[in-house]
Amino acid sequence: HELKTPIFTIKGFVDTLLDGALEDSNVNKIFLMKIKKQSNRLDNLFSDLIDITKIESNELALNMESIRLQNIIDWLETSYESKAKSKDIILVFPDCSNITIKADLKYIKSVFSNLLENAINYSDKGKIIISIKNISESKISISILDNGIGIKNSQLGRIFERFYRVDNDRSRDTGGTGLGLAIVKHILDAHGSKIRVESKVNQGTVFSFELN
Ligand code: ADP
Repeated sequence: HELKTPIFTIKGFVDTLLDGALEDSNVNKIFLMKIKKQSNRLDNLFSDLIDITKIESNELALNMESIRLQNIIDWLETSYESKAKSKDIILVFPDCSNITIKADLKYIKSVFSNLLENAINYSDKGKIIISIKNISESKISISILDNGIGIKNSQLGRIFERFYRVDNDRSRDTGGTGLGLAIVKHILDAHGSKIRVESKVNQGTVFSFELN
């Protein structure tokens, strides 16, 4: 279903364009934009599917290394500043210049980017706060808090399932795949960590996890 919908939509618009809509300047651009949106969706879907297939078939060979957390934070800031700004959202990043984590760089970046991207997608205005807490000598807790639309209690247990998307206009609009949080959960499992979530509808959501 997840693959069929965008493919059918693309085919439908291409057929309509070929059947004459191409010459109709009132609609041709709109149809092309819709095709573009659905192809982006397919693109996201395929790359998420490739990731999750690898992860679920245990092909996920982690390349553990010592990483300066600040490098990841700087990368997030560069990658998401403008998207957040365009929605009037302020991103608050922690100073973690002297924190080192043990993780697979590529995969842990994907955890951070999935969570931050969701926080932006499911918020309007307000702040998104990424914070770090020392739990012990060798353990830190990382949390990503937003003041967004929140998630109903009844859905909280399901959002980590592959393809599960809360059925609201927002989820339909983001072009997401419903695979992001399933990927996050798998990657953190592989790192011996667990993802936690707390949320209140219309108040916001906080996702947190621990790393060594
Ligand atoms: P998607 O591609 O739909 O964003 P995810 O697996 O990343 O898929 O998330 C699953 C669902 O959980 C989303 O469709 C959305 O409804 C909900 N969700 C995830 N993050 C948040 C958040 N920060 N605030 C509110 N809802 C969220």
